[in-house]
Amino acid sequence: MKRRVFLGMVGSLASVGTLAYATRDPVTTLEVRVWLSNGAATYDGVMDRILEYLEEILALEHWSLELSAGGTVEVSTEDGARVTTSGEWPMAIASGAIGSRDITPAADVNVLVTDGQMERAPTGYGLPHIASVGGARHLSSLDSFDALLATPEADVDRWIVPNERGPRTMQILVHEIGHALGLHHDHGVSFRDGDAIVATPMLSSYAWTADYGGDRSRCGESYPDPADHTRKLSLAFSSCAHRDLEAYSGGMTPQNR
Ligand SMILES: [Zn+2]
Repeated sequence: MKRRVFLGMVGSLASVGTLAYATRDPVTTLEVRVWLSNGAATYDGVMDRILEYLEEILALEHWSLELSAGGTVEVSTEDGARVTTSGEWPMAIASGAIGSRDITPAADVNVLVTDGQMERAPTGYGLPHIASVGGARHLSSLDSFDALLATPEADVDRWIVPNERGPRTMQILVHEIGHALGLHHDHGVSFRDGDAIVATPMLSSYAWTADYGGDRSRCGESYPDPADHTRKLSLAFSSCAHRDLEAYSGGMTPQNR
């Protein structure tokens, strides 16, 4: 992350009041709410597609998932990272309002999907309980979850999917939600699958970049050299990400000034 922007954001957050972090131990219900920016909301079926995928991907055994659509919000930028790093989206969640519109935050994850570009990083951002990502147009063009997994390149058991724009954008959405739940990049793994190298959501495209700092994941495995292998993506969290999600016990109660 860019420290400068992060500090700027904390400064603006401090001015809206206090985010109270509550510990709910154990978490039996995970509340996740998805909002669309005005730009994102112009794509047909995008919210339904997002909810359909997240319903599968976030449905872990130890919690019951309460996934909902928050609605459309008018934000000043469609940039999927900047809307959070500038403090705009976090402040909207913290204050329970954006402009004249009420926002009812979910206890665990509040994610905003925008019409932002997905070509150059950063394309999204995740903070505890708050995340945003661009790429609404790519999400709306995704096939259904079952249809994607039925393609010849996919693996239905391990949710391995082609490294194409739609699936990649979905993986980045899941990546930012992972950050919102306290996961880090080293919760991601990459592994060989035939001729391909597969990256899980928290590692994502870092699997293909030489400058990624870590040499092994929290799961204990080292990262195979991507070299010239075909790149594929898994939509499933790694085993150590699963383990730490099972230990997740934090929720958030925004308090107004
Ligand atoms: Zn990240």
